[in-house]
Amino acid sequence: MNRREFVRSVGAVSVAPTALMQEPQKPNQENAVQLSQIHGASEQDEKAPGPFLPGRRRVGYAIVGLGRLSLDQILPAFGSSQYCAPVALVSGDKTKALRIADQYGIDSASVYGYDSFERLADNPRVQAIYVVLPNGLHEEYVLRAAKIKKHILCEKPMARTSAEARRMIAGCAAANVKLMIAYRQQYEPHNMALRDRVASGAMGKLRGFISSNSQQQGDPSQWRLNLKLAGGGCLPDVGLYCLNAARFLSGEEPNEVSATLWQPKNDPRFREVEASCSFTLKFSSGFVASCSTSYDVHKSQFLRLEGEKAWAELSPAFGYHGNKLRYSQLQGEVETEFTPQIEEKNQFALEMDHFAECILENRAPRTPGEEGLRDHIIMEAIYEAGRTRRSVTLSGSPV
Ligand code: NDP
Repeated sequence: MNRREFVRSVGAVSVAPTALMQEPQKPNQENAVQLSQIHGASEQDEKAPGPFLPGRRRVGYAIVGLGRLSLDQILPAFGSSQYCAPVALVSGDKTKALRIADQYGIDSASVYGYDSFERLADNPRVQAIYVVLPNGLHEEYVLRAAKIKKHILCEKPMARTSAEARRMIAGCAAANVKLMIAYRQQYEPHNMALRDRVASGAMGKLRGFISSNSQQQGDPSQWRLNLKLAGGGCLPDVGLYCLNAARFLSGEEPNEVSATLWQPKNDPRFREVEASCSFTLKFSSGFVASCSTSYDVHKSQFLRLEGEKAWAELSPAFGYHGNKLRYSQLQGEVETEFTPQIEEKNQFALEMDHFAECILENRAPRTPGEEGLRDHIIMEAIYEAGRTRRSVTLSGSPV
């Protein structure tokens, strides 16, 4: 039995006993915090369903920023995780945070404000800090977490710029702590199955990729539409999924980008950020990815890969639930279409468990800071291409 099998079978790990957690409690839904809707009225509710499964002994996470993603996805996902438990909360709203702590069985003494963030250093139950704040605050909180020597899982997009991303990587390296960017699609079973199919050679060489990730934004006052807090509009928020999928599924890096940006002057939502962006990534192998993203169309998220020998499609591609994979395969001279039944798993739980395993086994995460930095370099080239209406060349190895 290797170490990982041992950890899985008995839940015992060779870290300080103070860092090991009891099973997380089933959340108490009475008195739960309700958040307002930010998407357009036509978009569906995306709250995670139960069940909240019992766990074993856990790596303790502090969740920083108690907004929609934390409340609707991340905190419920602990109930499906194997190795993690929420043990501390950081929020600017103490009343809300105490209610959520009560709901998830977190000690009220482990609820912090942003100004008392550094006190997490003295909480031995916290091994990882999960930064779930607006993008413009990621750099500050990742660097503050690194200074107090905690490992960090940071939401996507990693930052606002490649310069911020580089400082975050350097700060974590200097403090000798792990940094992982939360690219949940790289832990999601349908996306993983497609990546494995490409890697197996079943599709032949990849030639084309078409993808869209768009949604209708509602509330014009939200931080996503504020350049300082968001770093950009639909591109870094949802278009990033198409960009990252093109790189992650192909295993290749683009060397040229072209783009078109659209920012309507008469819509109060888009005073500071783009409403839509279409971009094309060219790769030296001949692979071309055509992507589009918008904050002003009804939710649409798919990708289609075209190889020499087959096509494959994920639709939806980037959902929290319900992703579907279809692909073609030549059998003799007959082309058959397959829709494999892939078990749906909570991708946030898989992602947090991966980081927990990296901490427990002292391994590098699969989506480290460098993965986020690559996307920022490419997004900067996309903005430049959109502004100048010219193709922008990237060096083969962008990091
Ligand atoms: P929300 O606006 O719902 O929540 C952000 C939270 O950050 C707030 O509730 C607040 O928490 C805290 N906060 C601190 N300072 C500010 C500020 N100046 N303005 C607004 N909020 C502030 O955002 P989301 O939860 O949707 O997004 C958070 C991060 O997660 C972003 O980086 C986003 O890109 C990413 N994300 C990732 C997704 C994924 O699928 N991986 C999906 C959705 C978002 P408090 O009141 O506790 O202080």
